[in-house]
Amino acid sequence: MRVLFVASEAVPFAKTGGLADVIGALPQALMDLGVEVSVLMPAYGPVKQGKIPLKVAAEDLEGRLGWQPLAFSLLTPAAGDYPFWFVERDEFFERSQLYGTPKGDYFDNLERFAFFCSTVPACCQALGFWPDVIHCHDWQAALVPVYLRHRWQHTHLRGAKTLLTIHNLAYQGLFPKEKFPLLGLDWSLFTIDGLEFYDQVNLLKGGIVFADAISTVSRGYSKEIQTPEFGYGLEGVLRSRAEALFGIVNGVDYREWDPAADPYIPHRYSPEDLSGKVKNKMALMAAFNLDLRLANQPLFGIISRLADQKGFDLVAQVLPELMARDLPVVILGTGEEKYHRWLAQEEKKYPGKLGVKIAFDNALAHLIEAGADMFLMPSRYEPCGLNQLYSLKYGTVPVVRATGGLADTVAPVDVKKGTGTGFLFREYSAEAFIKAINEAVAAYRNRELWQQIMKNGMAQDWSWSASAREYLTLYERLRSG
Ligand code: ADP
Repeated sequence: MRVLFVASEAVPFAKTGGLADVIGALPQALMDLGVEVSVLMPAYGPVKQGKIPLKVAAEDLEGRLGWQPLAFSLLTPAAGDYPFWFVERDEFFERSQLYGTPKGDYFDNLERFAFFCSTVPACCQALGFWPDVIHCHDWQAALVPVYLRHRWQHTHLRGAKTLLTIHNLAYQGLFPKEKFPLLGLDWSLFTIDGLEFYDQVNLLKGGIVFADAISTVSRGYSKEIQTPEFGYGLEGVLRSRAEALFGIVNGVDYREWDPAADPYIPHRYSPEDLSGKVKNKMALMAAFNLDLRLANQPLFGIISRLADQKGFDLVAQVLPELMARDLPVVILGTGEEKYHRWLAQEEKKYPGKLGVKIAFDNALAHLIEAGADMFLMPSRYEPCGLNQLYSLKYGTVPVVRATGGLADTVAPVDVKKGTGTGFLFREYSAEAFIKAINEAVAAYRNRELWQQIMKNGMAQDWSWSASAREYLTLYERLRSG
C-alpha cells in the first residue's frame, strides 16, 4: 500500500494546530504497519529556516496556477529518515506565517494552495512514487480530489483513490468567485453540485464532492457535522455523502507526550510515582509568577488557539469567580487579537493568581500539561482535540464540554465508584461550565479519589496504533472499491 499525504503543516517542521501533530505522527504509525508513505507540504519560511536542514531533491519541476505553468523545487530533510517533501516556490511560501497574521489571512491563499495542490503529479513523477491512495487534509489540500477527477486523468495518477480528512469544518477555504479561473477548472464545476457555495468558491466543498471517501477526526464529530448546528452550511453535502463519511479518532504521539520521558519538564513522573507532578506544579507557578501560597489549591491550565471555537467567552465569564475563590489559572495561547488584548488586561487585574503567556511555546505547553491539576477545554465544538488526550497522560484531569472528540475521549467521573477520567458539561453556558468546575474542585479535595481519577486517565492508551489500523482498513477498502 502506497499513500501520499498532502497537508499544509506537520510537526516538527511547521505547526499552528492539531493537524500538524497528526501529520507528524500518523505516517510513522502507518509505516509501522508496512504502508509506504510520502508526505507533501509547502516549504514555508519557518520550514526552510528551521532546525532540520533541508537539501534540494529535485529542481525545475512544473506546477500550475490556473493554466499557467509555474516552476518549483522539491526539498527534503538532508539527514534522518523523514518521508517529507517540501514544495518550494518563495513567491507563495517564503513568509513568516503559514496562513496569515493575527490581523487576517494572506490575500493570496487561494493562489498559494491551488498551486500547492497542482504540484502533486510532478512530485510523484520526480519521486517515482505513484500512490494507491492520496490522503488529503483540510481545505488546503482539498483541490487534489477535484484535480484528480478533472485534470489528471491522463497521468499515472488516474487509478489513485482519494481520502479527504476534515480536521476542522469551520475552515473551508472560501474565496470570491472572481478567483475561480485561477483554479484552472471549467466553469461548469462552479455550481451547487461542485465548488460553488452561496456564490463563492469553496475549496473544501470541492474536496467533499469529489473525494472517494471523507473522514473526520472523531466519530462524534463525523455525526455532528451532518447537522445544521455543526455543519457550517455543508451539512447537506456531507449528508449526501454519508455512506463515504467516516470518523477515526486522532492518536497521541507518546514519544512526544509522556511525563515519564518528557525532556521539556524539570521532574519526570509516572502513575507509579506521582511525586514529580507537584514539583512541576511549583515550577509552573514560578514560571508564571503565581503566588506560591496558592499551591494547595487546584491549578487550572489552558493551552489553546485563541479563537471563538475554543469557548473563551465562557472562560471570560467564569474567570472572575475563579479569581475571587483564589483558584489559580495559567493560560498559554495565541490567535485573534481581541483575545490578546483581553488576556493582557485580565492578567494585570489578578497578579499572582492568573498567569498569561501570549505565544506559541511548545516547551511551556509541556510544562503546563505536567504542572497543572486540571485542564480546561470548554469548546463550542471540537473535531477531536489533542490537549485533553495529553492531559489524560499527564494526570491533568480534563474539564471539558461534551462535544465532538471531547465527548468521545473523556469518560465522566463517577465519584462514588471512582471511575472515569474527567468532568464534562453539555450545555454551552457559564453555569454548566462552573458546575463541572465545582465538581472537579470538590473531587480534588478528596486526595484518594483524585489520585484514582488521575491514574484512570494515565492508564489509557490513545496511541496511534489503533487509529492507524483503521486508516489502513479504509485505504484497502478504497483501493479495492
Ligand atoms: P486545534 O487543532 O483546534 O488548535 P487541538 O487540541 O487539536 O486543537 O491541537 C492543538 C495543538 O496545538 C496541541 O498540540 C497544542 O498543544 C498545541 N498548541 C495550541 N496552542 C499552543 C500554544 N500557544 N503553544 C504551544 N502549543 C500550542
